[in-house]
Amino acid sequence: MSALVHNYEPLHVVLSRGEGAWVHDTSGRRYLDLLAGYSALNFGHRHPALVAAVHTQLDRLTLTSRAFEHPLLEPFADALTRLTGTERFLPMNTGAEAVETAIKAARRWGYLVRGVPDGEATIVVAAGNFHGRTTTITSFSTDPDAHDHFGPYTPGFRVVPYDDIEAVRAAIDATTVAVLVEPVQGEAGVVVPTPGYLPALRALCDVTGTMLVLDEVQSGLGRTGTTLAAQLSDVRADLTCLGKALGGGILPVSGVVGRADVLDLLTPGTHGSTFGGNPLACAVGLAVVGLLEPGDLQERARTLGARLHDGLDELRRAGLLDAVRGVGLWAGVDVPDAWGVTGRAVCEAMAGRGVLAKETHGRTLRLAPPLTIRSEDLDHGIAILGESLESLRP
Ligand code: PMP
Repeated sequence: MSALVHNYEPLHVVLSRGEGAWVHDTSGRRYLDLLAGYSALNFGHRHPALVAAVHTQLDRLTLTSRAFEHPLLEPFADALTRLTGTERFLPMNTGAEAVETAIKAARRWGYLVRGVPDGEATIVVAAGNFHGRTTTITSFSTDPDAHDHFGPYTPGFRVVPYDDIEAVRAAIDATTVAVLVEPVQGEAGVVVPTPGYLPALRALCDVTGTMLVLDEVQSGLGRTGTTLAAQLSDVRADLTCLGKALGGGILPVSGVVGRADVLDLLTPGTHGSTFGGNPLACAVGLAVVGLLEPGDLQERARTLGARLHDGLDELRRAGLLDAVRGVGLWAGVDVPDAWGVTGRAVCEAMAGRGVLAKETHGRTLRLAPPLTIRSEDLDHGIAILGESLESLRP
């Protein structure tokens, strides 16, 4: 027993080193990482360009707080907005903070521009959402564990079924300032909506004068085969939350990109963070943008993603999986219900064979390998998943 609070249930591997798609435990054993920090490690462990950028900055300056300026913050904002085709960037640290920032921006815009009385703004969100762990975000979670006696909750959210445009239409009224959804629901098990959903949301938001806020903390920055998942549907959000991979798996870096007329309403004193946009964060964030700008990694996510989904479909056809969902280099798979085998048991069987994945919701596994993974390593990972499932088939 240590002093650590037991608010997670990790697999019992103790990792001490990582490189690319591979990690080592403290005994020197090697594992292939198919989880990649839930998409925080899109570029693999310790990508040389990212490590070099952080090293260089570490020798210069690490923190100013936002009380003073430093030379990397504006270039980072300019580079990230160029990459994402947006106008403004407001830097934060964690994904949850980015979502909180978007909620505050939408409510402030609702009051100042739309004339929704202060305290009456509503935001439409989707069942099965995951946007973080703060009190306000927890208020509209539909996960019973996340919502287990943490009240009183923050009012102002209307939960409708995911991928149901009519439910959103029915939930929007004169108080509604935003619709906030994940373009692909990550924690829910990599749930991809029907192709027309996001365009229909965009059109509905346009007609009703409501902001479309997309949480791309997990889906963004290459994972789906495009820089943003919304680009798969040719949709442009008003505000987009980014996090995870923005820090290259090295540092917590997040923020909101989007419309200038909305984000510029967050004037001095109204919002901020001591660490948001710090020099180290900007150094790694700029290097992350540099990795994504050429588009090769997005292309890799498409081609390796097709390989991943082909491999998983084969396992499904062999009766080893109930369902395979996902897009790009990202998949959620369900262990057959009839087996009575947990996702955890599959992950343990995989770890025993040197491949790491992690279960969610009982019998679901999420796979999000680094976009830099070698194709032969990906094939190896899929083969080990198949072998592990086979070993547990009743
Ligand atoms: N939004 C989404 C879509 C996420 O997947 C997550 C993390 N899983 C978050 C927000 C929260 O990010 P963080 O844990 O950095 O607060």
